[in-house]
Amino acid sequence: MAGEAQDDCLFCKIVAGQIPATVVRETATTVAFRDINPKAPVHVLVIPKAHYPDAASLAEGAPGLAADVLRETRAVADEEKLESYRTVFNTGAGAGQTVFHAHAHVLGGRGLQWPPG
Ligand code: AMP
Ligand code: ZN
Repeated sequence: MAGEAQDDCLFCKIVAGQIPATVVRETATTVAFRDINPKAPVHVLVIPKAHYPDAASLAEGAPGLAADVLRETRAVADEEKLESYRTVFNTGAGAGQTVFHAHAHVLGGRGLQWPPG
C-alpha cells in the first residue's frame, strides 16, 4: 500500500532507527538528517517518514505530507542559519537519484552555481 515501509529501503531503515543517522530535526511526519557524503558545508536530507519513491509520487499520494517536507526544508535552513540555500529533489537514476524514498536535499553554506551540473 502507498506509504508503507519497505524492507529494502535505506531511508525506511533510518526512520525505524535500524540504521544510524545524524538527525537534526524530527516531526511527527518527517525526519531531517545530515547527508553522509555532503556536497556543501550544509547538506541535510528531509524525508517523509512514510515511503513514497519520489517527490511527485509523494505529492500525488499524500499532498499534506509533501507540504510537511517542504516546510521542514525552511526549518532546517533557519536552524543552520542559511540566508540562501537550494532544495533539490532528484527524480530518476539519470538525474542522480540513488535512494528511491522521497527526499529533499537542503544545500547551503557556499556559493551555488546555476544551472546545476
Ligand atoms: P539521491 O542521490 O538524490 O537519491 O540522494 C541520496 C543521498 O543519500 C545521497 O546524497 C547520499 O550521500 C545519501 N545517503 C546515502 N546513505 C546515507 C546514510 N546512511 N545516511 C545519510 N545519507 C545517506
Ligand atoms: Zn523508504
